[in-house]
Amino acid sequence: MYATPIARLIEEFAKMPGIGKRTAERLAYYVLNLSKQEVDAFADALICAKEKITFCPVCQCLTETVPCAICGDERREQDVICVVEKPKDVIKIEKTREFKGTYHVLHGVISPMDGVGPDDIRIKELLARVTTGDVREVIMATNPNLEGEATAMYIAKLLKPFNIKTTRLAHGIPVGGDLEYADEVTLTRALEGRHEIG
Ligand SMILES: [Zn+2]
Repeated sequence: MYATPIARLIEEFAKMPGIGKRTAERLAYYVLNLSKQEVDAFADALICAKEKITFCPVCQCLTETVPCAICGDERREQDVICVVEKPKDVIKIEKTREFKGTYHVLHGVISPMDGVGPDDIRIKELLARVTTGDVREVIMATNPNLEGEATAMYIAKLLKPFNIKTTRLAHGIPVGGDLEYADEVTLTRALEGRHEIG
């Protein structure tokens, strides 16, 4: 019922997370109503982000430089690694200005229900860092829900032979909650009160 180019546009929007068919239609019409310059700028932003942003080979976060600004910063405690689920969590913790170590982004959590196993997230990259580098502490900052806890315990077990202090964020982040929505004070307290696991 749509002309092919419109149908294609709707189809692309509908692939995005949280975008249903109706929202995809609205976005497609929004784009069609933009000026040629605005559409060019939008397309350029998409292509530019994809071309310029890569995964940091050390911490796996999204970055424009290799390594990323945090991994390349000598003033940061390079021997402390805070393990998070997603790139947004890094931004969230950075906003507290309390954490002086580095990060490791897993890009997900172990979730057998969703068919996500340990090999589907970036655990081996973390182990590689621990094996080759001087790591003093690994802070498990996965979310305090079932998958986040299970992932933290799984990784803590893997780290055990390395004799590295492995800690977990203190409570304060509500159980079942998400780091992304925690306020900065809560997150700072959770970091300060972290306790040893594994
Ligand atoms: Zn990095």
